[in-house]
This record gives sequence, structure tokens and C-alpha cells, in this order.
Amino acid sequence: MRTPRIERKGAALLATFIIVIVVVAIASFLKLAAAAPSSSAFPSSSLRHLLSAEPLQRLQALSRLTDDDKGGSLTRPFGGRAHSLAAEDIRRWFEDAGLEVRIDAVGNVRGSLSFGGSNPDANLTSSVLLLGSHYDTVRGAGIYDGALGIVAAVAAVKAASRKIAAEEGAKSSSSSFSTKKPRKTVEVVAFSDEEGLRFGTTFLGSSALAGTLLKSGALDAAVDSQGVTLREALLELKMKRKNKSTFSSSSSSSLEEDVAACSLSSSSPLSRYRGYVEAHMEQGPTLEAEGARLCAVTGISGQTRLGIYLKGAAGHVGTVPMNFGRVRRRRDAAAGAAEVVVAVERICEGMMMTRGRDGRTAAAASFFARALSAVAGSSSNGLRATALSFLEDRCPLFIEMLERAKAAFSSPPPPPVEHLVCTVGKLHLTPNAPNVIAGAAELVADVRSSSEGLRARALRAIGLAVEEACRRRSLECATEVIHEAPAARADEGLTAAVETAARASEALFSSFWREGDELEGGTTPPTRLHVSRARASGAGHDALALSSAAAEAREGNESRYRDRGLPWAMLFVRDVGGVSHSSRERVRDGDVAAAAAALHELVVGHLGL
Ligand SMILES: [Zn+2]
Repeated sequence: MRTPRIERKGAALLATFIIVIVVVAIASFLKLAAAAPSSSAFPSSSLRHLLSAEPLQRLQALSRLTDDDKGGSLTRPFGGRAHSLAAEDIRRWFEDAGLEVRIDAVGNVRGSLSFGGSNPDANLTSSVLLLGSHYDTVRGAGIYDGALGIVAAVAAVKAASRKIAAEEGAKSSSSSFSTKKPRKTVEVVAFSDEEGLRFGTTFLGSSALAGTLLKSGALDAAVDSQGVTLREALLELKMKRKNKSTFSSSSSSSLEEDVAACSLSSSSPLSRYRGYVEAHMEQGPTLEAEGARLCAVTGISGQTRLGIYLKGAAGHVGTVPMNFGRVRRRRDAAAGAAEVVVAVERICEGMMMTRGRDGRTAAAASFFARALSAVAGSSSNGLRATALSFLEDRCPLFIEMLERAKAAFSSPPPPPVEHLVCTVGKLHLTPNAPNVIAGAAELVADVRSSSEGLRARALRAIGLAVEEACRRRSLECATEVIHEAPAARADEGLTAAVETAARASEALFSSFWREGDELEGGTTPPTRLHVSRARASGAGHDALALSSAAAEAREGNESRYRDRGLPWAMLFVRDVGGVSHSSRERVRDGDVAAAAAALHELVVGHLGL
């Protein structure tokens, strides 16, 4: 009698087991369906290939194209052999992704993919989303700067075009497809020159799209180290490509006509463009410090290069005494320059600290410094800087207080909304000899900020510090603005769309990527956030040149852009150690895939897939 009972028990267990399996399978299916909302047409293995494996393979392919292979680094200047080979590779990738491709007169590789209603409206407002980045490099570059934005954009669009192919197939067997839907387009551009390595003029490719290249006079003014003008280089490019069907200009047109035809507004109104979006490595350490993969960008910093000239008195280092009694004897321009270098750093550090989460520490330091300067009976900025320097350098108790205050904020502080960095990267002494007191010093301070007000305040403070150093050291001093570029604000609507797409892509990303797929290794902090809050970019990007397309548009009848410029947004991608413009730059494999997935969400959203 025991056997049937055991059989019944076994049958019950088996039935329970089957029910559990079915429930788990249904739950898994529902979870997967929820995890990949926009790309359910693809199995995760396909997504993994399209958004991860393929971009990584393409980064490796571009990493082999260099004109100067030293120590594993890349050098791919405009118009060189490696540059031409890269353009051809990218053209093939665009075709593979289903894009209509052309290479324009300045070497930009441009592709286009449309989807939607069967009655295209070329002038439909905001119907075109432009993605891109650059394929030239600096000297001794790594493999991610620029190339990352191209391979991520191609991957995003290729996955979308595969989805479109599936939709088109369904369309023929379904009447639900609406021909009344607006026809939307995604364009991808690989800019031929952003870094300006060959001609020393940045944004050659994107300024051609913006329509500003001809007006800049660069065709004849820009000359490379061999004496070749940009005009001659572009004519050579035209000769090389004139027999290729991908070259868009006709052999009878002038170079000016060819370059003018590169501009976005040459064939249709600029208002056709919803805007430009670029994925780019952060080129800084803040995303890594936060443990975040991605973030949007609020703007690109404005920049001032300030020339600072100090004049003292040259003299023999062995015979001119340091001082007579309490009176300083020497008028040493090198010592004055050193003070200025440190003052530039301290001023901008101080201004940012008071805006950061550990601002109380800086506020306390500032309070003590002000107190000390009050005791000294002076309100000059230079003396306050000296007082602060004294407190930080000489007073161990104060340093301990600072450290304790900083320790109280143990979690990494959020990045400040505004960005300010100040650097003296160039310093020249005259006569620059070991046995001569410097008679003159020439410095260049580079001040960058996303806030025009903050940059102006920093420049005023630097000017006061220079005057103070010169007064105390009996030096003559002068300052001169050598270069100035205003800050550019990202478009709020497009930035919000990029952020939304990046957050939505986390589920898509998780459906094909596991943390165990990449080695965290080394001192890299673990990933805590998929998307962090937006921040400003301290480096210039092609978006900056494209934003000036608005100025061109303002001269026409483009009322939509009259006050806010061609919309643009950027997606920053974490890079290891914040290193860039170096063969040591690295972006983790998972972060490349995360960028591709985020752009994919943006593309399918725009196309209405
Ligand atoms: Zn770049």
C-alpha cells in the first residue's frame, strides 16, 4: 500500500514542479518584455551583438589606422593616409547600417535613414535628428575620443534600421500601418576634423555643416607645416574622390560651391533639424568618481586666454642681493610669475569650493583669511590670498580642522552645476638663463567656465592678484585678452530627451549586459548609477561649431532659431581615470554598450518605432 501513496506523492511533487517552472517562465517572459520595451523584436543576443560587440570591434578597427604608430598611440590628422582609410571604413559601416551615404567636400562622412509616412515632407519642422562625432585625432591619441561617438551612433541606427526592416515586413501584411505618420529622419555624420592637428584650426568639419567655414577665411589662411593651404588640401581630396560615386560634389563646381553645399541649410531650412546629439567620452574623472556610466551635458564652457606680462630687472644671480635690510632689492619677474601661477589656481579653486558640497570648509577658510587681512589692516585681494596661503601652509591645527570638515562629507560630492577651471599652461622667462635674474615673464592663463558671470569674476580676481604681485615686487605688469569664446548652452528640451532615453536604456542595457561581463579591476569604483545628473563640458566639441549655425540662420528667416540657436545636446560616457588625448585613455566595454543603447532609445523614440 505504500507504493501508490509514494506514486501519488511523486505525481503531486511533479505537478508542483511543473507549475513552478511555468510560473517562473511566465515571470521571466514578462520581466524580459518589460526590460526591453523598445527592442522586443530582437533577442538579447542580437542586441548584444549590435550594441556591444560590433561597436567594440569597430573601435579596434579604427585603432589600427594611424600615420604615426608610436607606443600604441594614434595620430590621424586630416587628409592623411590613415584618415582616408578611416573614412572608407566608416562609409561601409554606414551602408551596412542601412543609411544612404555620401562624403562631402571637406571629408565628412554623412548618412541618412528615414522612416514613417509614405509621403515625405522635406521641410517638416524638427523631423531630422543629427548624430555624430569626429574621426580625426590629436597626436599620440587613444582610441575613444571621437571614434566612440561614431561607433555608438552607427550601432544605434543600425539596430533601428533592422527594426524598420521588420516593421516594413509587417506593413505589407497589416493595414494598421499609418501612412499619415510624419516621415522622420536620422542623420549620422562622422566629422573629418575636430582636433585641428594639421591646420591648427578646430572644428573644420562641423563648421562646414554650420555654414561658417567659408566666412572664416580658413580656406586660404589655414596652412599646414608643409606650407599646404586648406584650399589645396581640399582640392587634392576632391581629385582623389572625384571618380567615386560617394563623393557628392560635381567636378565642374568651384571649391567654394562645394564647401557651401556642405552646410545643413544649403538644401533645406535649418528648422528641419530637431538638433544635434553627440556621445563623447567625458575626458574627466567625475563620472568615474560617482560610479556612473552616463550623463547629459548642460553646456560647453566659455573660454578666455589671458596674456599676462611682467617686467622686472635682469641681473647677476650672484651679485644682486636679495634685499637691503627689509627692502626687497630684486625685481625678479620669475618670482612674480610664480605668485601669479599660484594665485590663478587658488582663486578658481576657492570659487568652486564655495559652490561645492564642501563649501563650508572653504567658507571657514575664507572667514579666517578675511579675519587675518582685517587684522593686517588691508582689504586687498592679494593680501587675503597671502593670508589664506599662510593659514593653509603654516597652521597644522587649521589644516586638521579642514580635513575633519572634509571627512564629514564622506560621500563623493555631486558635481557643481557650474564649471570653472583656470590654468597657467604657458610660461616664458627672459632671458631664461640659470645665472640671470629674470627680467621679464610672459604667461598665458586659460580660464573656462559654463557660467559667463563666474568666468568674468574669476578674470577680475586674477587681474587684481596680478596687480598685487606686481605692486609688492615693484614689477611693471600688463594683461591682454588673447582669445575669447562664449559659453554655449545645450538645448533644454533635447537634453531632457537625451536624459530620458539614457534612463530608459538601462532596462534595454540590462537585458543583454551583465556586470560580470567586464572586469571592474584596479581602483575603478563600482558602478552605482546608470545615469548621473547633467554637467557642463570643459572641452570644446563639434556641438559648439554647430551651435553657431544659429547665427547664420538669424540672417535668414529662421525665426525658430532667432533666440536659441540650433538645438544640441551631448551624452558623456565615463572614462577610466579621466585620461584623454593619450594612448592610456580607456572607456570600459560596458560603457560603450551603454552609450549605444542610450542613443538607440533616442533614435527609436525620434523615428516613432
Ligand atoms: Zn573629441
